[in-house]
Amino acid sequence: MDRDQALDLVRAQLTEHRYLHTLGVMETAIELAERYNADRDKAEMAAIFHDYAKFRPKEEMKKIIETEGMDKRLLEYNAELWHAPVGAYLVRKEAGVEDEEILDAIRFHTSGRPGMTNLEKIIYLADYIEPGRRFPGVDEVRELAKDNLEEALILSIRNSITFLMKKNQAVFPETFYTFNELVLKNRS
Ligand code: FE
Ligand code: FE
Repeated sequence: MDRDQALDLVRAQLTEHRYLHTLGVMETAIELAERYNADRDKAEMAAIFHDYAKFRPKEEMKKIIETEGMDKRLLEYNAELWHAPVGAYLVRKEAGVEDEEILDAIRFHTSGRPGMTNLEKIIYLADYIEPGRRFPGVDEVRELAKDNLEEALILSIRNSITFLMKKNQAVFPETFYTFNELVLKNRS
């Protein structure tokens, strides 16, 4: 599948706003892949498909999580998390993407996970800093991303966790574990 075929498949699934976001993630993921020695084409494909399931009905996503052997804890946490693992499943099933590295980058782009691969980190970060994103703290993460992938990732995860905590929302445990792992590894 080439880029244009992938974009056509994704465009049919998304709103115009979310499609433009996807193009931003694609552009940013390619830049990060070149900067941090990841596979450019895998970064491009993972970025194009990362939000594939974003607008599936909650009931459909819930059912897929329940029947396809996914982490059931997801159902107790923010439904915003669901489109990532469900997306990995549907991108394989409906778009025929079989590459496990690409599918994992889609699967973990919202929660993160301990032991994230380089490609997973790039997609997580590209999703956070693509040019269409405008929220407090994003510029600081953009600056860090120019020369330190992991420091940028730590700050983006920290921002996401504190954002949820300020709203009294529960934080998925894997996200805390990801944060802890990166901080322990990078502390000086
Ligand atoms: Fe997403
Ligand atoms: Fe996204």
